[in-house]
Order: sequence, then C-alpha cells, then structure tokens
Amino acid sequence: MSNEGSLITRAFRGLARRCARCGGPAFVSWFRMADTCPNCGVRFEREEGYWVGAMIMNTIVTFALFGIVFIGLIVATWPDVDWTLVTVASLAVCGLVPVIFYPISKSLWFGLQISWHPLEPHEIEAARARVG
Ligand SMILES: [Zn+2]
Repeated sequence: MSNEGSLITRAFRGLARRCARCGGPAFVSWFRMADTCPNCGVRFEREEGYWVGAMIMNTIVTFALFGIVFIGLIVATWPDVDWTLVTVASLAVCGLVPVIFYPISKSLWFGLQISWHPLEPHEIEAARARVG
C-alpha cells in the first residue's frame, strides 16, 4: 500500500480528519494529530517544516471566508450597511475559522501533498514496520 484511493478520496479523508492514505484515525483529540497512523503506520509529518503548507491553506481558507462574509454582508445590507454586524461577523470569522480549521488543514494538507509527492519507498517500509 503506497497511496490508496484517488485524489478526491484522499481529500475527503483529509477533510474528515482521517489518514488520507488508509482512512484510519489521524487525531487523538480535535487539535492533536497522531505522529503516525495507528492503522497503516505512515508518519504524517514527512519532513521538517512540513506543516507550513497546512498553515498556508488555513490562512487562505480564513481570508476567503472573511472576504465572503465581509463583502456579502455589505452587499446584502446596502445602502444601509450595519457596520457593527460586519465588524462582529468579520472578527468572529477571523477568530474562529483558523482554530476550527486547524486540524482539518493538517490532514487535508497531508492528503493533497501525498498526491503530488507520493510516499517514498523508505516511508512505506517504515510504515509497514510500525504496524507489523
Ligand atoms: Zn493510515
């Protein structure tokens, strides 16, 4: 087993906070990702600095939702824009989305990243050795 399933399958597994490789549980709590998959043994952090990609995805999702909420509320209430509502909703999005999306961004990043940079033979061998 190297990369099971299609890109879509791996993306959905990532969105569900599952191991993108096998669908096994990737988290021990909402925020704490396991070092390795308990099912297939793959190490999630493939190299030093690996989670920068997840942080970038988290930032992009937060900015996108902020933009949708900010512009959407202005357009929806134009010309009498409720700036208090716009401010509170924008602050809520910018404060909550990165926290809620944090674990999803990590498992999704892993799922997408192994699609264009498949597991190396030594990673597959190490995963196999972990689960026996
Ligand atoms: Zn797995």
